[in-house]
Amino acid sequence: MLQKCEGIVVRTSDYGESDKIVTIYSREFGKFAVMARGAKKANSRLSSISQLFTYAYFLFRKGNGMGSLQQGDLVASQRGIKEDLFKSAYAAYMVELLDKAVEDRKTNPYLFELLAQSLSYLNEGYDEEVICLIFEMKLLPVFGVQPVLDRCAHCGETEGHFSFSIRENGLLCHRCWSNDSYALKITPQTVRLLKLFYFLDLNRLGSVSLQEQTKKELRLVIRTYYDEYVGVFIKSKSFLEQLDRMKTVLHGDSPEENKNNTTK
Ligand SMILES: [Zn+2]
Repeated sequence: MLQKCEGIVVRTSDYGESDKIVTIYSREFGKFAVMARGAKKANSRLSSISQLFTYAYFLFRKGNGMGSLQQGDLVASQRGIKEDLFKSAYAAYMVELLDKAVEDRKTNPYLFELLAQSLSYLNEGYDEEVICLIFEMKLLPVFGVQPVLDRCAHCGETEGHFSFSIRENGLLCHRCWSNDSYALKITPQTVRLLKLFYFLDLNRLGSVSLQEQTKKELRLVIRTYYDEYVGVFIKSKSFLEQLDRMKTVLHGDSPEENKNNTTK
């Protein structure tokens, strides 16, 4: 039986001499894998549509075991991502994170939109770090964790100076600081952005340009939170971290220079 879906390639692996196993995250069926016969050969009609990040309408044949990919109509080839080392590293991290977050064959149209929109922003040239931070925040509920970001996680107050407490699972106001002396001290700007990233409708994202220091704080909060609450091993993360270090060396690390690197 032939079936059609709108999907994005989130993982690929070689299978034998010339085939590939392609994992697609689709709007209609969630995540599933198909065999793409001959896709490793350059002249195969499946080779372009079975590459990582490809967004297409896929036609596949369902069998008893793994289905087989028949053809695909490109929606977006994501060239802007594939031709940029930094963007492709961030995109690889994001699709791997999503792959870890979802179970096979579980549909979630909201999540499909989130992935499609995030990759589209990357492809258009938005700051890859910012898109990745937003993506990580929005993926938290999919992993089953929900940090408290609209009030103090301890007393419920909405006004005050806030830090971020891993132990209390969210923001901690100045009245409650004594409850967690290890709470991460962050600026009001970072507090505002954490909230924004978590609750924002991604379709309404305007232009974003953040100071290097703000990105650093956001990264610290989000990565620490992931380590404590999500705890998945992401292969592409170490490559991403190497790249980040390389970028720092390339661009210099003085605050004066970083100011010039915050916009795209
Ligand atoms: Zn409080």
